[in-house]
Order: sequence, then C-alpha cells, then structure tokens
Amino acid sequence: MKLARFSTILAVLLLAASCTGHSLFRDGKTDYTIVVAPDAPESERYAAAELQFWLKEVSGAELPITDLQGGKKGKRLVVGYNSLLKELYPQAEEPDGSDDSFTLLSRGGDVLFWGGAERGTLYSVYSFLEDQLGCRWYSSKVSVAPKKASWSFGKLENHEEPGIIMRDNLYQDIIAHNDFAARVRNNSRRLPSIEPGKQIIGTAEGYWGAHSMGAFVPYQKYFDSHPEYFSELDGKRVKGYTQLCLSNPEVLQLCIDGLREVMRNEPDYLIYSMEQMDSHDFCTCDECKALAEKYGGQSGVMVWFVNQVADAVKEEFPDKFVGTFAYQYTRHAPKNIVPRDNVVIRLCSIECCMWHDYDECEDNKTFLKDLQDWSAIAPHLYIWDYVTNFSQYNLPVANWNTLQSHIKDFRDYHAIGILEEGDYHTLSCEMREMRTWILSKLLWNPEADVQSLIQDFTDGYYGPAGPFIREYLDLEERILRRPGIHSDCYISSSDPMYTDEFVQEGRKIFAAAKEAVASDEDLLARVEAAEMPLCFLLMEKDPVKGIQEGAADLFKRVVQREGIDRMSESGSAKRAQDYIDYYDKLTSAMDDAHLMPAQKASTSGNGVAFTRYEGFFKMTSDMFSGKGRVTGKGVLPAFTIDQDKDADHFGYVFDSWVKVEESGLHFVRISSDDGAVLFVDGEEVLNLDGSHFTTSGFAALNLEKGMHRLKLHYFEDYSGQELVMQVTTPGGYSGPIPESNLFVPGK
Ligand SMILES: [Zn+2]
Ligand SMILES: [Zn+2]
Repeated sequence: MKLARFSTILAVLLLAASCTGHSLFRDGKTDYTIVVAPDAPESERYAAAELQFWLKEVSGAELPITDLQGGKKGKRLVVGYNSLLKELYPQAEEPDGSDDSFTLLSRGGDVLFWGGAERGTLYSVYSFLEDQLGCRWYSSKVSVAPKKASWSFGKLENHEEPGIIMRDNLYQDIIAHNDFAARVRNNSRRLPSIEPGKQIIGTAEGYWGAHSMGAFVPYQKYFDSHPEYFSELDGKRVKGYTQLCLSNPEVLQLCIDGLREVMRNEPDYLIYSMEQMDSHDFCTCDECKALAEKYGGQSGVMVWFVNQVADAVKEEFPDKFVGTFAYQYTRHAPKNIVPRDNVVIRLCSIECCMWHDYDECEDNKTFLKDLQDWSAIAPHLYIWDYVTNFSQYNLPVANWNTLQSHIKDFRDYHAIGILEEGDYHTLSCEMREMRTWILSKLLWNPEADVQSLIQDFTDGYYGPAGPFIREYLDLEERILRRPGIHSDCYISSSDPMYTDEFVQEGRKIFAAAKEAVASDEDLLARVEAAEMPLCFLLMEKDPVKGIQEGAADLFKRVVQREGIDRMSESGSAKRAQDYIDYYDKLTSAMDDAHLMPAQKASTSGNGVAFTRYEGFFKMTSDMFSGKGRVTGKGVLPAFTIDQDKDADHFGYVFDSWVKVEESGLHFVRISSDDGAVLFVDGEEVLNLDGSHFTTSGFAALNLEKGMHRLKLHYFEDYSGQELVMQVTTPGGYSGPIPESNLFVPGK
C-alpha cells in the first residue's frame, strides 16, 4: 500500500437507523444467509465466520454461510466486494485491498458489508455487531454479546475511515491475541487464520524491528578487527552495546547488505527498521562531528545515513519503506537535509509529561516543536508514544484525559501510524484492559468521546462496580493530577503525588466496588485487579497496615490469577514473586513477633551515642576482635553514617534508648552497604552482616509502650556505603526515628 498523507480522516456515521422493517431473527430463527465469494480473500471469509458466530451468540440462530450461487435468492448479508454486491449496488466502487475504510449498507432487506479486502470488510462486520447489536470486545477474555429474542432493521448506512492508518498497541492483550487485536481494529498484528497453519498479514501493518543497527554490525563479530566501525567517545572506540560510526562507508555497506537480506527473507513487512540502538553514546569522531555540524545535529547524521540505505534498496523494493528513530539524542529535526520519500521517521515521546497536553507544560512544548518540525520535512511520520509507567507498571497512571489530545496532535501533524507502548511483556499495568480498549478506539477515531468510552467500558467490564471505578478515576484526576504535578513515564512508588489520602480514599471506593459485585466471582476478580495498584502502594507505604488490611493478600491473589511476572520494563527489577516472598516473610514475622516489654531506662538528653572504629572488616564482630581500633565517640541526631567523610574501612556501634509511643507492631527496615546487625533490648532482631552491596531487611517487633534499647552495629568494607533505618509505627508514622524519641544512654 501507499503511505499517502491522510489529512482529514474522520469516522463518518452517515446514517444509521434501527427500526422495524426487516426482521433479521426472531425466537432463535432466521431467514437470512451470509454470502461470501468462495474465492474471497481469507480475511473476508473470516469476516463471514465472525458474523455467523456472534450473530448466533446474540440470537441463538445460526445463519448458513453460502457462496454466490447459493446467495442468488432469499435474504442476504453479503460480505465483501463481489459480483453479487455489484449487482445489488452498482454504484459501489471497488476498494483498494489494503484500505481499512468500510461501508455498511442495506438494500431492501439485504445488508452489504464491504471495504478493503485485507481488513475493511472485516471491520464493517465488527461495526455492525457493535453499533447495531451491542456486542463488545473489551479484552481478549471478556466479550459481550447481548441476548436478543428479535431484531429488525430499516435503513442501514455507515461509512468509516481510520483516523490513524497504522494502529498498534504494545499491550500484552493485543500482542498475544490476534483475534482480539482485529476486533478492536489494531492493524499492526497478524490476523488469525481460519486455515490451519496460515497467518494473514493485514493492511498497513508490518514494522519490522526496532533498535536494529547493532544487528547489522555486531560488535562481537567486528570490533576486534574493525574498532573504527563503532562509536568513538573521548577519542576512544567503545566495545559493547553502543552506536555505530555512521560516517564510515563500510558501516553503511554492512547496514545496506543486512537490511536487504532481511527484506528478501521477510517480505511481508511494509517498513523496515534502520534504527539507532537504545543508548546515548553516539559517535564523536571528526567525520561524524563534521556531519552533525553540517546537518544540524545527530538527527541530521542519522537522516544522511538512512537516506543512503533507502536509496540503495529502492530499486529492488519500490513499495517498501525504511524506518528510523527520532529518539532521545536524534529527537530534534535536522537542518539542511530531509528524509527521502521512502523513509519513515519514527518520533518518540519518551521525555514527555503524560499528565498534560503538549501545549501545556515546558517539557511537552519542546516535544511539540519537534513534532511540528519533523512534520514539515518528513514525508511519513510515525509516532512511538509512551502511555504507561515503565519503572513500575502497576502504579496508578492518571493520563486518561491526555491520551486523546496527544493522539489528535499526532494526527494533526500527519502521523501515518502510532505505536502506543504499554506493558508489553507482562500483565500488570493498571487497568490495562481499559487502556488497551480506549487507545484502540481513539486510534481508529481520534474524535471519539472519551467519557462515553469510559462509561461504556466501566459499566460493561465491571458491571455494578462501574460507577465506583469512575469515582476512583475522578479521585486519580483530583489527587494525582492536582496543579503543579508533572509526570513522565518513569514514576516511583515513593513519588509524593501518591499521598496517604489517595490510598485511603481509593481503598474506600474499592471496598464499595467489591461489595457491589460480591456475588459474582468474575466481576470481583476484575475489580480486585483494578485495586491491586492501590494495595501495592499501601504495602510500600505501610506494610504492617497493608498486611492487617488485606492488601498483601489481594496483591498475591491478583498476581497469581493474572499470571503476572514482571513489574517493570527493567529485567533486573523486582518481580511480582519477589514482592510476594517479601510480604509472606513479613506476615510470618508479624505472626511470630513476641511482646517485648518496656525497659527501665536512664538517659542523658536526646540523640544516639556512637563509637567509631577503623580497620579491615568482613563482619561486624571484626570491629571488636582486635582488627579494629576506636577512632571517635560522640552523639548523633540519628542512626546515620552521613557525617562520615571516609570512603572505606570503618565501622560504627550506635546505642540509644527509644521512646515507643504506642504498644503494638512496629516495622523496622534497614538498607545497608556493607554489614549491619540490629539489637533491641539485647535481642538480635535483624541481621544483614557481611561484606556486600546495598541489602535490605526488616524486622516486625511487638513493642510495649515505653522505653526500649536499640543497638546497631555497622561496618563499611570498600566501594559504596549506605545505612538507612526507617520505622513504621502502629500510629501510622513512617520514616526515620525522630530525634525527639531518641535518648543517649545515661551512666
Ligand atoms: Zn564516527
Ligand atoms: Zn506536565
């Protein structure tokens, strides 16, 4: 297909009426047949099968599928542009096979469904099932087909065109379920096949690869013999995952040869990636620097390079495109050079604030300028958009009200395609089903009414809990998007926008939501999945309370039910099971915590007494074993090493009375590099001993109100150093022990 610029593509509902007239079915019976040409493309035969299946779900009646001969007479649903359709509606123009537009039209008692053979016809069937019969495909697992005893129609006429030509959602449900992807009109995934073993490529889809350059010139193969192929940084060529030296003609030839081979071996794609690696270390050799100077920065070097690749493959692949990133250091548009006609620029919004429109806040305004600049020079612009939190997928992300304005801006600046990057390798994103569905709807029709979509989804997917979910979304809007807060796509659970009030109010709303669906196991599971982010936040803030209030249990249930593994884009970050293990350990520590009675104390003023040691320690006990010598004594305001100027080889013994305000479970968390051991009233309660990188541990202590003696042994061996001790009290305080509660032991 051609990547024409569609400037004003709107979903147009010309006229749709459903009134008495022609009865499609009544009491499980029908006079209709579905007609599809036997030589119709597989996607149209799949469309006929989908129409038959979902109509049966709604009506109980099975419409026979017949060929053109069988469809000569009777009442017909004609699927696809074929000779019968031309006979019934001679004005119909033959659609371009790859065009996703479609028309749905009644002619007397017949209904005609047609559009581009690859997807358009299929979409006409889905639009009929959705708009006329109320079917919904909310997720790969949850479909709605409302049961009807009868249904009649008068005049049907609907024509729609996609707002965005290439529509892709990088969410698990889309990636793993081709049938669902097709139903919500994502066209960058393969259609399912009705013929075993066959897969059909759909319309505008097929963007091969990402961050692909390194694969054409692998450093493992080339660096030792040709270090000059790779990035020069500070005068030195760098071995490893790095960018290429784009001014080197041999690098260009390797990239051309490599891409050509891919295009020959995998001919089904439309756009082929020739894209920078996911790192910042572009080459700074003299030749690359000169190119950057000439073409207005690194994007100029990239376009200069990719244009040559595009020229080299054009003759053999006249209908294909070479795609390249405008990402991070190549995000600004170049000067004195423009991309070739067969180049697609894939502009990435990774630095943007998800909370605001592009003309609203400063980070976004610079992106908007880049979007405008690229739009002015790029023959084809494609957007890689970031719509979730990649640091911690399951945190609440309050961008429901900016998704649309961002997509509209992309459309207005002539984006031919949008990839919405979500939780692509896991299932843990907050309300991922609703995100996937709404994004899909907006990519098809950027003018769709988002509030209506939210209403539709929340009522349809969460049932009687729908109004509560909307109340929770309002809470997100009110607290997380309060004035002055901006948020990119890397948010931490300790971000101050996640206030205690947000978690408490949110959990109250969810308590009512769960009550509303208590008798329905499936709906309850969906509501619990939506509440999981709040439970996670509570566990981060106050794990003792979280466990007591069932947050850990809910988290565990949802993780196990949904099969959640990763919680972050980073492969090395904690997995869902790591959190469960930690919650389990904490729960048993709380169960096991014996009452520690208050002690009789003699004190002399606020603070923590310390003794400082120096020496080569591998365990805290080494401080007292003759390996260490005392180098200082005194009083500090807290259990801390922040005041210590030495980098390595020292240790501390801290000693203080602590005033406990309220009897009950106290939670102590220590992070240390290197070893630390905590004693309370003479009992060892937490042991992180040994030489190691930062390691965290906790203790659950059942402390009686009154005075308790805390001793902390700590040492630093070599490399990094850290000591952080935080407590959570039954009264809800979380943080370091306040100095006013610490007392230096008296004589
Ligand atoms: Zn270079
Ligand atoms: Zn902002």
